Amino acid sequence: MTLEQQDKQYVLQTYARDYTNFVKGVGSTLYDENGRDYIDFASGIGVNSVGHGNEKLTQAICEQAKNIIHISNLQVIEPQAKLAQRIVELSGYDMGVFFANSGAEANEGAIKIARKYGETKFENKRYKIITLEHSFHGRTITTVKATGQESFHTPHFSPYPAGFSYEKSIEDVYKAIDDETVAVLIELVQGEGGVQSFEKEEIQKLAAHLKAEGILLIVDEVQTGVYRTGEFLASNLYEIEPDIITLAKGLGGGVPIGAVMTKHKDVLSAGDHGSTFGGNYLSTSAGLAVLDVLEGLYESGAIAEVHLYFEQKLEAMAKKYNTLFKKEVGLGLMRGLRAKSSDIQGAIIKNSLKEGLIVLKAGRNTVRFLPSITISKNEIDKGFERFEKAISSL
Ligand SMILES: *Cc1c(COP(=O)(O)O)cnc(C)c1O
Repeated sequence: MTLEQQDKQYVLQTYARDYTNFVKGVGSTLYDENGRDYIDFASGIGVNSVGHGNEKLTQAICEQAKNIIHISNLQVIEPQAKLAQRIVELSGYDMGVFFANSGAEANEGAIKIARKYGETKFENKRYKIITLEHSFHGRTITTVKATGQESFHTPHFSPYPAGFSYEKSIEDVYKAIDDETVAVLIELVQGEGGVQSFEKEEIQKLAAHLKAEGILLIVDEVQTGVYRTGEFLASNLYEIEPDIITLAKGLGGGVPIGAVMTKHKDVLSAGDHGSTFGGNYLSTSAGLAVLDVLEGLYESGAIAEVHLYFEQKLEAMAKKYNTLFKKEVGLGLMRGLRAKSSDIQGAIIKNSLKEGLIVLKAGRNTVRFLPSITISKNEIDKGFERFEKAISSL
């Protein structure tokens, strides 16, 4: 039985999967079972923030695994408390952290905090949450409903929880607010929806308005967080102070972890929320190692430098191949090339893999780039050489 047959027979087929069998990774280079190398411009959808085989991360995981992998949240967990402090200090906000295991779960936590806030702070129970069209917030029944893409709300899984509505633009959010609105949930750069960033000014204006109205601003930083856009959080880059922030993808460097942080530290009390695995020794030790690596690179200016380098390469591609691309989109190392059609998008992703390069899709026509924050210039050069080979025949 081949690996592909085994997968098809025994794994539920919920993904339209590629069957290249990767067996090793070093930095931003992956090797398949035949020893062929691929440049990784996807980093496991923005997860492998410090690349593959990072020494600090693997050492931290191995050392922790030899000691304690897991003890329940009924006991205090030292690396969890350390990671919470570290995240709060890096963010610059006075917040408390709850640890979960994924982005969707972090957003579930955010929604629970908002709902209880709505119940306790207002005379009528406020419960409505406004999100944006083209947003993505997860795959659980609630977060799929929070996701502002109609295609996700298939009747297969109905009924969905009530209280979510979607607006076309930030401008439309103001009009949608009513006296049952408790929160607005947004990504500052929409990832899955097409690598679409919002203007700093319009976000700052919205944040100020929500604050004045007593409505919570929840920023989903599952993809934008952990230095992806250049600062520790995209909220730092936009210079806003959200009420609730969620993190996941890049935080554990590949070890599953999610986090919801809020300045409303006393909304949830004992018994209101919990998780068996969330914030265990292994995942939070991994998080600490990831932040050790990335904070050093940030402080030395290396992250800003690699962003600029990647951006220049991407701009050159957008310009040279303007028959294929409408424009370049995104921020930091969360980037996209908006193709002129979804056929072009599909062909580029397929051809890239043939040339030994992994890129992602986003939205209907965007080719997405989410490399590791630690990617080297040499790997960027090699990746774009392969990218050019992949698109030059189109
Ligand atoms: C990936 C993503 C999620 C979902 O994260 P999971 O870990 O897959 O549950 C939620 N929000 C955003 C913005 C994401 O990019």
